[in-house]
Amino acid sequence: MDYLRIWKEVDLAEIQAHIIIVDDIFGFCPGCREIGIKLEDLKKCPKCGREFKYVTSREKSPAMVMRTRRKLPDLIFVDYDDFDRLTGKKKAETLFKDIK
Ligand SMILES: [Zn+2]
Repeated sequence: MDYLRIWKEVDLAEIQAHIIIVDDIFGFCPGCREIGIKLEDLKKCPKCGREFKYVTSREKSPAMVMRTRRKLPDLIFVDYDDFDRLTGKKKAETLFKDIK
């Protein structure tokens, strides 16, 4: 299998609502802040029921991406830096909205 990084217009709110952040073994649900979620065959957060469609990881070596893809083949792997930059920007916009 080959991997390509593809750029595409996305709905950031949709991704934020359905993303899980993972390391090599476990996942973290940003919705309910549950940690230590087992990844194999994961479709929903075991705690809050959030449906996972996207996955991201701070560690993003090609090997890590491939391991994650094998464990969670139905989820789309999102680049962490892109996600963090965009959500950070949105957070700042919301933060300063009332001050302007
Ligand atoms: Zn959750």
